[in-house]
Amino acid sequence: MVENLEDLEFSIPENVLDEIQANIQDIIRNFDVPEENKIEVLKQINYVYTRTKYLSMTDELTGLANRRYFESSFEKEFLRTQRYKNNLTLVMFDIDRFKAVNDTYGHQCGDFILKQVANAALQTFRKTDTVFRYGGEEFVVILTETDINQAKIPLERFRKTIETLYLNYNNQNIHITVSIGACQHNSEIKTKEDLLKLTDEALYKAKNAGRNQTVFNTCQ
Ligand code: GH3
Ligand code: MG
Ligand code: MG
Repeated sequence: MVENLEDLEFSIPENVLDEIQANIQDIIRNFDVPEENKIEVLKQINYVYTRTKYLSMTDELTGLANRRYFESSFEKEFLRTQRYKNNLTLVMFDIDRFKAVNDTYGHQCGDFILKQVANAALQTFRKTDTVFRYGGEEFVVILTETDINQAKIPLERFRKTIETLYLNYNNQNIHITVSIGACQHNSEIKTKEDLLKLTDEALYKAKNAGRNQTVFNTCQ
């Protein structure tokens, strides 16, 4: 989750920043802001701008980084990995039989569980490993500087955390599990789409093999 606005890595090109700055100055001039209020107005504009940017990157329900943010982060990390040959493991996990949870306990309970799973993921992975809500009950984690062997420990810890997570909703105890797919980048994987596909395939295998397990895609 993006906890602090300061943690966000905006990559606004310099020339666009200059343009924004010039526009803000124009606005202040045109609105005839008294000299003594100019700093305050600038602060307000800055706040609204930053807040809007933050909301555009955040999933409303869970507070995790959203799919849109994933697309830009993944592109950046993939390029970095290709260029500097550092390790990167992509992870996808999906709540097992979640439709049945909604059908049995209701959609609000489903929402409650999504939030708890998001919190558990945030606590398991390092702060540098952003957890994204990819869609529905499916999540992605980019494990930077991590090879497949190093990924095994946190992924197994996470799987067990979810398996034993205490979930109490309206005095009913609910148990859930997740299936996990992971794939490490290697020089044979030329595009980020291919890495995503291989990771998704691993998740699919975990589902087919009976769920509540992790599958590492080692194909090249
Ligand atoms: P599998 O183990 O194969 O993943 O089975 P599943 O039931 O989890 O998968 P399926 O794709 O059949 O159903 C996903 C369910 O996730 C259906 C949908 O209602 C639920 N879901 C998706 N997004 C949300 C959400 O934001 N809130 C709630 N409560 N449910 C959601
Ligand atoms: Mg599911
Ligand atoms: Mg799903």
